[in-house]
Amino acid sequence: MNAKRKDVSTVIILNKNQHGTKTLQIKTKHISRFKHYVLGVLGIIICLSGTIIYLNKQNQKQEQEKQRLMAQIVSLKGQLPVKEVNKADKDKETAQSYIQAIENKLQKINGYLRKRGLPGFSTKSVGGNGDTESAKLTDKEKYSLYDEYLGRLTKTMAATPLGYPRISSFTSFFGYRSDPFDNGAAEFHPGIDFKGQKGDGVKCTATGTVVFAGWFGGYGKCIRIQHIGGLETLYGHLSRIEVKVGQKVEVGDRIGAVGSTGHSTGAHLHYEVRKNGKPVNPVKYLTVNS
Ligand SMILES: [Zn+2]
Repeated sequence: MNAKRKDVSTVIILNKNQHGTKTLQIKTKHISRFKHYVLGVLGIIICLSGTIIYLNKQNQKQEQEKQRLMAQIVSLKGQLPVKEVNKADKDKETAQSYIQAIENKLQKINGYLRKRGLPGFSTKSVGGNGDTESAKLTDKEKYSLYDEYLGRLTKTMAATPLGYPRISSFTSFFGYRSDPFDNGAAEFHPGIDFKGQKGDGVKCTATGTVVFAGWFGGYGKCIRIQHIGGLETLYGHLSRIEVKVGQKVEVGDRIGAVGSTGHSTGAHLHYEVRKNGKPVNPVKYLTVNS
């Protein structure tokens, strides 16, 4: 106990104005160590300040780096990627205009077919004009639809009388003309005549089925082929028939040879196109847009 008391010092605090005093009992060892405490605290303050300054500097560096990266991102966004996006947009626009052009042409061909009384093909917009419903279609779906349309078109084209049963000039057109057998009398000519020599090849102008092959009155040796849309082609005055009734023929197949059989003044090919049994002007079927 004594040893402990000796170690205690009394600190007296004097107030100049009030003459009062305050005393504090402090262990002597603390007073002797006071200098060390002050130095210790100072040391801690210095360390903390250093740390704060260091962290602050690091923070500033990070902020600068962040700013630099942000600037870089903005600059990259402003240059390369935007350029690519513009190019992709432009390509898409170009592709879209091609799709529109293809669609317009398909519609036009369809119009030609319909003009001939053919069913044509379904012409739902594939999306070339960007209408809302078809815009939902994926590119793959659009191309698949075009492929389907072209497939149907090809089939229709092949089955539609088109072009020449033989390549030569016409000697007589469709319509009224003077009867070559009865001078002055008007005669209705239900087809067109193609110049030709006996034995020259005759080709069918569309895929179809032979419905007649034989002698047919004034037509002499004659072939009739049935096609789609109530259409039929007739080839008359032949010297030779090379197909049989019921035979399927492809467009361009040789079916017979030019002759002068029946009501004929000389070797030529008489060609008719019939729609639902009635002769129509074959000139309309020589080219797709006539
Ligand atoms: Zn004729």
